[in-house]
Amino acid sequence: MKAALDVITGGNKGAYNRAIFLQVIHDLFKGAPYGFLIFILWELFSPAIDMNHIILLIGAMFVTFILQYFTGKWALIACHEGGYTLCSEARLNLGEHLRKLPMGFFKKRDPGDVTAVMLQDMSFVENIFTHILADIVGAVVIPLMLLIFLFVLDWRLALATLATVVLALPMLYISNVVLARIGKKHHQSRVDSDSRILEYLQGMRYIKAYNLVGKRFSKLENALTEFHRDSLRVEVYPGAFASSYNAVLGIGFVVILLLATHFFFGGTLTIPVFLVFLVIGHQFYQPLMAAGLYTMEARYMNIAAERMQEVLLTKPLSEPAVSRPPAGYDIEFKDVSFSYLEAKVLDKVSFKADEGSVTALVGPSGSGKTTITNLIARFWDVDSGSVSVGGVDVRRMSTDELLSHLSMVFQDVYLFKDTIYNNIKVGKPDATREEVIEAAKAAQSHAFIENLPGGYETMVGEGGSTLSGGEKQRISIARAMLKDAPIILLDEATASLDPENERAIQEALNALVSSKTLVVIAHRLNTIADADRIVVLKDGAVAESGTHEELYETEGLYYRMWQEQEKAGGWTFESSLR
Ligand code: ADP
Ligand code: MG
Repeated sequence: MKAALDVITGGNKGAYNRAIFLQVIHDLFKGAPYGFLIFILWELFSPAIDMNHIILLIGAMFVTFILQYFTGKWALIACHEGGYTLCSEARLNLGEHLRKLPMGFFKKRDPGDVTAVMLQDMSFVENIFTHILADIVGAVVIPLMLLIFLFVLDWRLALATLATVVLALPMLYISNVVLARIGKKHHQSRVDSDSRILEYLQGMRYIKAYNLVGKRFSKLENALTEFHRDSLRVEVYPGAFASSYNAVLGIGFVVILLLATHFFFGGTLTIPVFLVFLVIGHQFYQPLMAAGLYTMEARYMNIAAERMQEVLLTKPLSEPAVSRPPAGYDIEFKDVSFSYLEAKVLDKVSFKADEGSVTALVGPSGSGKTTITNLIARFWDVDSGSVSVGGVDVRRMSTDELLSHLSMVFQDVYLFKDTIYNNIKVGKPDATREEVIEAAKAAQSHAFIENLPGGYETMVGEGGSTLSGGEKQRISIARAMLKDAPIILLDEATASLDPENERAIQEALNALVSSKTLVVIAHRLNTIADADRIVVLKDGAVAESGTHEELYETEGLYYRMWQEQEKAGGWTFESSLR
C-alpha cells in the first residue's frame, strides 16, 4: 500500500483522513450492538429478569443502528469524495509529469503501456481508496472491538481466539508475497494484450490491405493466451494460501467451541458466556476472512501504483531555476550532435535562422530534418553543442517559456476527439469565437468547415479520421495561426495532396508565416526556392547552405535533388512562401 500512498501524496490528504475517521466511528457503531446483546443475554439468565431493563437495552441497540446508518452514509460519501478527489489530483500530477518527460520516454515504451498507466493503473489505485480501504478499516476495527468484549467476558477463550488469528496470519502473508510476484507478471501480460489489441484495431486498414490477418492475429492471440494463463495463475496460486488462511480461522473457531465446552463442564464457564462466544465468535471471524481478500486485492492494485511510481520517478527534462526569456527570435545551432539511441543522427550541425527569415531544411529522407525541429522545441536534449533561441540556450528557458514562442505544424496532424472549434482553439485556449473563425479563414478552412453537417461544432472522429489529409493539415495551420507565435516550425506533409488542397495549404501558409521566423522542412523544392537560406542536410550533417541561386550554381546535392524532382514532377517554377 505504500506505493499507492506515495502516488497520491500530491493531493489533499486532510479530506481523506476525515473519511477514514468517519469509517472508524461507523465501524464502532457496527460493533456496539454486540455489547448490548451481551447485556441482554446476561439479563435473560439472571435470577430476576427485569423486562424494563431489556427494553432499555433494545432501545439503545436501536439508537446505535440509527447512528450506524448515518455514520455509514457519511463515511461512504467522504471515502468516495476524498478518494476520487485525491486520485483526480494524482492523475493531473501524472499528466503534468508526463508532459515534462523527454519524448524519448514515449518512444521507448509501448503505447499501450503508457496508456495503461494513465487509465487502468490509476483506476486501480482509485479503487483502493474509494472501496477497499474502508473495508479493510472495518475488518480491523470490528474484530478488535469484539475481541475486547471477549476479553472482558473470559480471558482464556479470548486469548485462544487471538491465537487462531496469529496462527492464520502467516498464510495471508505468504499469499500476499506470492500474489505480489505473479501479479507483476499478470499486469505486464494485461498491458501486452491491450497493446496488441490497440495495434490490431489501429492497424486494421493495413491488416486488411496487406492481408496480414494471419500473422498479426497470431501476435494478438499469443498475447491473449499469455494473459489468460497469468490470469488463472494470479487467482489460483495465492488463492491456495488464502484458503488455508480461512481454513485456519475456521478450524480455530471449532477448537474454541471445544475448549468452551470443556470449560463449561469443568464448571468455569457459565451458559450466557458460552452463548456470547457462540454468537460473537462467529461475528469476529467473518470480517477477518473478508479482510484476507481485501488485503490481497489491495496488494494486487498496489502493483499498479508501483508502475505509476516508476513513471513518476522518471526524470523530466531539467528545468532552469530561473527561466531566461529569449532576446529575439532567431534560432542558432552550434556544433550540435545528437543521437536518439546509439546511432548518431546529427553530427556537428551548425546553422543560423535569422529573426523574421525563412530557413528551409532539405535533404534525403532520414537525414535529420525532423530531428532538428524536435531539438528546437526541446523534445529531446542535445548530446553536445547548443541550440539557442534569441541568444539563449533552450536549456536555460523553462519549457513553458520556450513552447510559448513556438508554433509547430507537424507532418502527422493530430486532432483531438472534440469539436473542430475546440481543435482550433487548442492554439490559444482563451481565444474568442471571432479569433477562432478569423484563424480558420486565414488558414483556408472556414469554407469547408461551414459545409460540414455541424459546422464548427462537428465532432472530429478519433484521431481525425473523418477529415481528408489536406483538411486536417489546414486545421492544424489554423491552430498555429491562432497561437500567433513568433517562431514557426513547419514539417511539410510528404503525402502528395491534390492540387486544389495544395494551393489552399500554400495560401494558408503564406498567411501564417508573414514576418515570422520560419523553419520549414520542405519535400517539394519548388515551395522553398524563395527561402532566405536553404540548409541542405545529408546523413545528419550540413552538406551545403545558401540561397537557391547560390546552391543551384554550386551544382552540389541541392542541384541534383532539384533536377530529380523536376524530372519526376514536371512542375513549373513558381515562387511560393512569401
Ligand atoms: P528526416 O526528417 O530528415 O526524414 P529524421 O530526423 O526523422 O529524418 O530522422 C533521422 C534519423 O533518426 C533516421 O535515421 C531515423 O531513423 C532516426 N530516428 C528518428 N526518430 C527516431 C526516434 N524517435 N528514435 C530513434 N531513431 C529515430
Ligand atoms: Mg521528417
